[in-house]
This record gives sequence, C-alpha cells and structure tokens, in this order.
Amino acid sequence: MGLFIRRWGGNKKLFDYRILHCYTVRRTIGLYGQQLEGEFQMPNGKVIAPGAVIGILGDGQLGKMIAMAAARLGYKVAVLGPIGRESPAGQVAYWAEAWGPNAQVEDEQFERFCSLVAVVLIEWENVPVGLLERIEARGIPVRPSSKVLAVAQDRLLEKKLARELDIGETMLLSIEKGYDLLNGRGDRTQDWPFETILKTRRAGYDGKGQARIPAGGSVGDAWTKLGNVPCILEQVVDFIGEVSVIVARREDGETAIYGPFQNTHRDGILRLTQYPISGGPMYDLRDSIREQGYAAARKLTEYLRVDGLLAVEFFVTKEGYVLFNEMAPRPHNSGHLTIECCDTSQFEQYVRAACNLPLGSTHCHSPGEMLNILGSEANDWLRRVGEDRLAVHLYGKGEAKPGRKMGHTTITAFAPNDE
Ligand code: ATP
Ligand code: MG
Repeated sequence: MGLFIRRWGGNKKLFDYRILHCYTVRRTIGLYGQQLEGEFQMPNGKVIAPGAVIGILGDGQLGKMIAMAAARLGYKVAVLGPIGRESPAGQVAYWAEAWGPNAQVEDEQFERFCSLVAVVLIEWENVPVGLLERIEARGIPVRPSSKVLAVAQDRLLEKKLARELDIGETMLLSIEKGYDLLNGRGDRTQDWPFETILKTRRAGYDGKGQARIPAGGSVGDAWTKLGNVPCILEQVVDFIGEVSVIVARREDGETAIYGPFQNTHRDGILRLTQYPISGGPMYDLRDSIREQGYAAARKLTEYLRVDGLLAVEFFVTKEGYVLFNEMAPRPHNSGHLTIECCDTSQFEQYVRAACNLPLGSTHCHSPGEMLNILGSEANDWLRRVGEDRLAVHLYGKGEAKPGRKMGHTTITAFAPNDE
C-alpha cells in the first residue's frame, strides 16, 4: 500500500478514494463469502447455468422483457410465437421463428426448438397446453408446467380452485351449452337483481370476451352476444380498488413475492399501476390487503406447485376483503415497474426461478408508477423520452391499433434527500 501512495500521491483526492475503495471491496467480498456459506440457501435440484438457451413460448412484450433479463444473466433466448423474428421478443432473441395458425408447431420446427433449449418459459397464457405437454414429454422442463397453465387458461377451473382453497372469489354460476354447471339447473337465464358480468371461460384478455349485464337484464342475451361459448357469470364487485401479487417459486419450494400492486383499469385494460399503495381508499387497509393477498397467492402457488412465476389479480371490497379475480402463470403487466423500482425485476426473478438459481431480493427501493402507452399514444414518444425520472419502454410493435399495448412508462420517486 506504501508503493501505491507514492505512485498516486500527485492527486491526493483520487488516491484516498482508491484506498477506501480497495478496502470496501475487500470487506464486501468477505461479507458475501460468509453469506454464501452461512445464511444463503443454495437451491436443491438442477441449476441451468448461464450460457444455456432459454425457450420462450409467445413473442410479445413480456417475452421481450424476459429475454432482456435473461441476456443480462448470460443466457440466450429462443422464441416461438405468432410473429417470430419481427415480434417484440424476436427482435432481441438469439433464435426466433413464427409458429403456424392456431399456434401449430410442425415436427421439424418442434425439433429445431427442442434441440436448442434447456428450459421453456411462458409469456402468453393461451399457448396450447398440448404444446407444453409435447415439450415436457421430451424431458424439457416447462416452467410453470402444463398442469398450471391448464387451470389458468380456464376461468371456471381457476375460480373453482380458489373456492376449494377457501379464497374469496366472485363466481355465481357457470354456463355450458345452456346448462348451469355449478347449480345443475337447465335454466341459465335467471335474471339477477344486481349487476353481473358474463365472461368466456377461455381466451379473454384486456376485457375482451366479457359482457356486462345490468340488474334484471337478460343473461341469455349476453350469452348469445358472446357466441354461446362456455362462460362463467360473476357478480360485479363494487370495489374500492384492484391489486395484484406476483410470486416466484423455485421447484424446491423457495419463494419470493411482490406486491400488492395497486391497479387502475379503464375500459377493461390496465392503465396505471402504483407501488406501493400510497394513497386512496385502500391506504389504511394496506397491511391487511398485503396479508390477505400474499396468503391467497401463496396457497395457489403451493397447491399448484408452480415453478416459475404466478401473478394473481384481486378486487378489494369496501369492507376490506380481498377477492380473487384471476391468475396468470407468467410475468404481469402490473409488475413492469419492478424493473426500475425493485432490487430484482419480475422478469429476472422468473428466469432465476426457472433456471433454479438463488432468487433475488424483491425489496422496493423506489416507489413508482407505471402507465401503459396505448394505441396512438405511442406517437408521443419523443416528448416522453425527454422527461425526467421517466423510463420509457417501447415494445417495437408495428401498427398502433386503438387500445393495443405499445409500450409503458415508469416514473420513479426518490426520497428528497437522494437529490
Ligand atoms: P386482463 O387481461 O387485463 O387481466 P381480462 O380480460 O383477463 O383482463 P378480467 O381481469 O377478468 O379480464 O377483467 C378486466 C377488468 O374488468 C378487471 O380488472 C376489472 O376492472 C373489471 N372487472 C372484471 N370482472 C369484474 C367484476 N366481477 N366486478 C367488477 N369489475 C370487474
Ligand atoms: Mg385481468
């Protein structure tokens, strides 16, 4: 160290800093060493090490953000989805191809994909369960598994599961071919004295596949409007707010949990997420909401033995009850702000859980807000890019159709003494 002092002595300030830095680094390495041996819980099971190729089914913005997190950890990504190379995820992937109509994957393409990947992740909920089963039959883990996806794809199955696990939910009845499945009645057209909402069991997103029915309105008419496909009928909840919770779980049962995120929807589409809950009617109830949301999300994750990620959406009633709405075995729009606001983003956490790496801290170091950029709002990108404390994400999608999620912005608020 004496030699060091003489050599760098010309610039006292720089020299002091360097010595301090060396000292700090050595101490920190020492601390990490202890942590790894002591407190740190190393995963049981097979670790998929950086350098491997991670497969992603679906090629939208969630895939893009998973791919970027995976790349940072040294993985490559192979993407199979409806658009392929020009898709949001395809643009940043190592390998990308488009599957056929209705997500059909021909044998040769299936072989090409399977020969590359060590594990497969999901970014789109409507991937055919059969495709996941085919991959699993090849001995390649799909995380979360085909069994989890089969439940999450069907509103009836997920609500029934919530009911079985004693998690409050909103379903009144289920309709299939004009027959009320839950109550065993042939008459499905009972008109309810309060507002209800009819939802297709499958393939709904961003409020699509839903019809609101006013008090006393005809369920039958709404069912016809939705094409007479299997549906569930829900009571419309007069909620004080909507929240979501995201759980990452490794195959050996280790979990990391985020939320509750406070979500505001407009026309059935998520508009704004705030984290943590920092005002409004849910503020005083925030501890109880967190407790109820975490308990419910953990019950579901444990029961389904999710390895990977599970996002759960809830309504919060005036009385402070947290009611299950739906779940998704993939990253969630409300978790996008974890990129800027938390130690580990939901995308990186998903990669960590799926590859059986140690999970990262979910600590929220900066409160923040995420606003979706919908349709033609994307044309305003130049002004957005220029604003302070605003992270802009543009997904690289082609046409800005009305309501289409084209990107999002996250604004972070720091404590004043961080200035
Ligand atoms: P997304 O893909 O955006 O999650 P989705 O199409 O899968 O949505 P839901 O989450 O069931 O459908 O509904 C979208 C939104 O519609 C909800 O977040 C909520 O704002 C409103 N909504 C749905 N069901 C109800 C209900 N039972 N009571 C009150 N509002 C509801
Ligand atoms: Mg939803």
